[in-house]
Amino acid sequence: MSVPESFQYIHLPCGEYTEIRGAEFESVANPLSGIQTTLCAHCGQQDDVGEFCWEGSEETIADYYHRLLIQIPEQELDRAGRTGMFNYLTIGGVAGFAAGVFIGLILGRLGPIAAIVGGLIAVLLLTSIGVLMGFLHFEKKVVAPVVKKYWNVDDVRLLVQR
Ligand SMILES: [Zn+2]
Repeated sequence: MSVPESFQYIHLPCGEYTEIRGAEFESVANPLSGIQTTLCAHCGQQDDVGEFCWEGSEETIADYYHRLLIQIPEQELDRAGRTGMFNYLTIGGVAGFAAGVFIGLILGRLGPIAAIVGGLIAVLLLTSIGVLMGFLHFEKKVVAPVVKKYWNVDDVRLLVQR
C-alpha cells in the first residue's frame, strides 16, 4: 500500500471538507502527536478533533486516536508521546548549548569581544541544531519503532485508510 500524500477530513458542524498534506497531514494522522484541535479550511474554525471525521469514515478523529492509542502500553506511550519528545528536545538543546559555550571559551583566546559575540552565535545556532537533532532522533528511534510494532505500518499516514 502506498503512502497517501494528502487526505481530507470533514468538519461535522459545517459539513465541509478540508484537505491536508505534508507535515500537517503527518502530525494529524499520528495519534502520538497529542493534537487536540485542528483547522477547518471552510469555516476557519480551530475545533476539537472530536468534531472531525476522516473522509470515508464514520469515526471522529478523536475516536481514531483513542482506538489506536489503547493498543499501546502506557509506559510506551510515555516514552513515545509528548513527554518523551520533550526529553529528547531538552537533551539536544542542552548538548547544543554546552557545545556553544565550549566554542565561546575557545574563542576567549582571541579576546573578550570574540568570546562573547562568537560564543553567543555558537550557543544560539548549536542549541537550535541540538533541539532539531533531538527531534529527528526521537522521531526515528522512538516513534517509528512504536508505530511499526503496535500498528504495523511504516508511516502513520497509512493508518487513516484503515
Ligand atoms: Zn467548518
